[in-house]
Amino acid sequence: MRIGVYPGSFDPVTKGHLDIIERASKIFEEVIVVVSINTSKSPLFTLEERMDLLKESCKHIKNIQVDSFNGLLINYMKKINSNVIIKGLRAVSDFEYEFQMALMNRTLEPDIETLFMMTTDKYSYLSSSLVKEVVRFGGKVTGLVPEIVENQLYKKIL
Ligand code: ADP
Repeated sequence: MRIGVYPGSFDPVTKGHLDIIERASKIFEEVIVVVSINTSKSPLFTLEERMDLLKESCKHIKNIQVDSFNGLLINYMKKINSNVIIKGLRAVSDFEYEFQMALMNRTLEPDIETLFMMTTDKYSYLSSSLVKEVVRFGGKVTGLVPEIVENQLYKKIL
């Protein structure tokens, strides 16, 4: 079975992430969205909260699973027997880091491919950190994140 793995911190999941997940679910038989435990950024939402928000937001997609991983992503990939990492690209600013990561992962494990999917133009500026910043300064993020995420953001931050 073709399994694609979509990793990230998802702190919290945005409509930009969901767009990638929905499109990837049409390419792969199964997509596993994996939340990184050891993120360098200190997260606003706990691992459980980030996973629950993802599960709730992806309820309408049948071939999606949500999991978490710690340490090297390629070790997780080997464990679940997948060889495709899915990444979203927003702008040139994402490119350098993602390019570096993809090449490093290929050096570590030549059989694992990184597949880049271009963002949908209307979400190209959207990031979890920007969404949190807008809420912190009193702005509304309606339409940029799923509704349950929006409510949780106001609860957590305000
Ligand atoms: P963020 O950079 O928003 O904190 P994550 O670390 O959770 O996001 O990112 C996980 C993956 O989702 C990365 O591959 C990232 O490039 C991608 N991604 C995030 N936001 C978008 C978006 N608006 N459009 C396309 N891809 C995105």
